[in-house]
Amino acid sequence: MSTATNAGRAEPSVEQVPVLIAGGGPVGLTLALTLAQHGMAAMLVERNPSTTTHPKMDITNGRSMELFRHLGVADELRTVAVPEEHGFDVSWVTKLNGWELARFRYPTVEQRRGLIRDCGDGTMTREPAMRVSQVLLEPALKNILETRAPQIDVRYGWGLDSFRQDDNGVDAVIRSSATGETRTVRAQYLAGCDGAGSVVRKGLGIGLDDIDLRRLAVRELGLRRLVPAFIRAYLGDRETPMDGRVYLIHFTSPDRELLERFGTAWHTQSPEGWTLISQNDRDCWTLHTLLGAGVDADAIDPKQFLFARLGIEFDCDIIVANAWRPRLSLADSYGRGRVWLAGDSAHQVVPTGGYGMNTGVADAFGLGWMLAAIVQGWGDHRLLEAYEAERHPVAERNRTASARHTLVRLAIKTAHHKTIHSEGWHGERSRRRLGREILDLGNLENEADGIEFGYRYDSSPVICHEPHTAPAAHMHAYTPSTQPGARPPSLFLEDGQAIFDLFGTGFTLLRFDDIDVDALVAAAAERGMPLKVVDIRDDHARALYQRDLVLIRPDHHVAWRGNAVTDRSDTVLDRVRGAAPAWPIPTTQDRPTRLVDQPGRRNIPAPRPRLVDSTN
Ligand SMILES: Cc1cc2nc3c(=O)[nH]c(=O)nc-3n(C[C@H](O)[C@H](O)[C@H](O)COP(=O)(O)OP(=O)(O)OC[C@H]3O[C@@H](n4cnc5c(N)ncnc54)[C@H](O)[C@@H]3O)c2cc1C
Repeated sequence: MSTATNAGRAEPSVEQVPVLIAGGGPVGLTLALTLAQHGMAAMLVERNPSTTTHPKMDITNGRSMELFRHLGVADELRTVAVPEEHGFDVSWVTKLNGWELARFRYPTVEQRRGLIRDCGDGTMTREPAMRVSQVLLEPALKNILETRAPQIDVRYGWGLDSFRQDDNGVDAVIRSSATGETRTVRAQYLAGCDGAGSVVRKGLGIGLDDIDLRRLAVRELGLRRLVPAFIRAYLGDRETPMDGRVYLIHFTSPDRELLERFGTAWHTQSPEGWTLISQNDRDCWTLHTLLGAGVDADAIDPKQFLFARLGIEFDCDIIVANAWRPRLSLADSYGRGRVWLAGDSAHQVVPTGGYGMNTGVADAFGLGWMLAAIVQGWGDHRLLEAYEAERHPVAERNRTASARHTLVRLAIKTAHHKTIHSEGWHGERSRRRLGREILDLGNLENEADGIEFGYRYDSSPVICHEPHTAPAAHMHAYTPSTQPGARPPSLFLEDGQAIFDLFGTGFTLLRFDDIDVDALVAAAAERGMPLKVVDIRDDHARALYQRDLVLIRPDHHVAWRGNAVTDRSDTVLDRVRGAAPAWPIPTTQDRPTRLVDQPGRRNIPAPRPRLVDSTN
């Protein structure tokens, strides 16, 4: 086989590595940590000399935190995050010199830990979400990698230039950003974690499917709602309709009291189309504002823009200010042969909901164990086929959710009238109505547990599927289940131990009753598969886990479950390590692929919110 593509000229010396990772963003770093946990060596090249200076991601969700916990890095990452006693409130305001319209209150990490301990129904995460800026998370991940994983060769200031794959490996040319020097690396596998403009994706000739946000807004919200809103905005402030760009201003300020006039909030957002993110609840914030068509971003004075949006003037230093364009894109494929994509190279979403990095972290965790299994010889090629079959639908689902949340934000923007800024009864009535509307629409973007925890690998060829038993998928809620392909429920056992903390690095067989599993253990040993048997005698846990035996994969998804080890042990193990023909995959009718609580055309869940006119 010889697929791609754009190999360039290289120096004669060739370095050999099992896995070459292109890109040292959060996903590349997580993949490197995952490989290290499986005892693998790898090289990570990052074209920039240092980690990002752009404050992109600000929420690491509960699922990513569970995975970081399993990598043994969650506590260390929390040391750079917003302190645990701080909340996650989302506040809607007219402006900072105006009124608060609505507030969604959320517990602190500390309070959530208590809730998790008290809740035994399996609906909760093992680790609460973490507020942290990507500017801080990336150096923390890099530092852990460099200090704890000597087998990972981390090279910042080196970019992937080109690559060519054959049946046995990948020849990659890397280039020093400082000197232009090139070197050739021979890798068994190449992972493209190189972000939205991915050299790897382009080298493979993989296209992107884009959803145009403006068209989506027209289709789902309707011109009857949008046109009057555009006219009002134009007549009021000469504001032109949005053209898909967002202007970012990242700044520090000592004037916390002014900026937190309505109390501390993680996100303060306005129906005028801006969001102020508190990065540390102390002295650092980021403002994101929708830009109108024809606005020249280069001509914007960031400070004046900031003051005009927020309605107040204060002391501040601008760190970064620029325009950027959110996207809803999904790669047609996740890779082929020996070259695979993870993170933004495969999918890009609007930040509402926080599904960008978080989807990528789970990609990395999945790809990491599969590459390790294949390189170490206990996994087979079908695992990589499974990687695409598992992760592509998740990215599609998360893109749908991101689009849905964005439409809600736009719906609120189109519902607002300038009267919300007026004193007197007219303004009061307008604000009350809009506030009620915002509360009615809800804040699912920060509450969609079904999206974060309820994804399931229903199309995977390496899962022992049980058609007809799958619980329905909901966007808002996670239904605890050990349906094969699902993330199993997290709970604390009677002895106080968290069940997730018992899972091993390889496969884990949870045994809830005295059942002879020797045949399965022997079959795993024959194949060199790492398998840990964990005995649990806990009626409540057994009830939640639904079977006496549950086989958990290294990425914490259920591979198989049953009440006895049958003579099919070999078949089951060969299936889950990618060495057997696929288990019959349930038909579409068997699988709830739709998010059942979110109807809409083309499976884009139209919020169809009840939008009252805020002046009436
Ligand atoms: C404003 C904003 C807010 C966001 N908020 C959230 C949030 O709250 N939660 C969330 O989950 N996501 C959020 N995201 C999305 C998140 O930032 C991205 O999904 C995340 O950065 C993707 O990580 P990545 O490692 O895949 O890609 P990137 O972060 O883009 O990293 C790719 C890396 O590859 C490097 N690279 C590129 N080409 C090469 C090459 N040829 N060779 C070597 N290196 C290369 C780049 O320099 C870069 O460092 C947000 C994004 C934005 C813009």
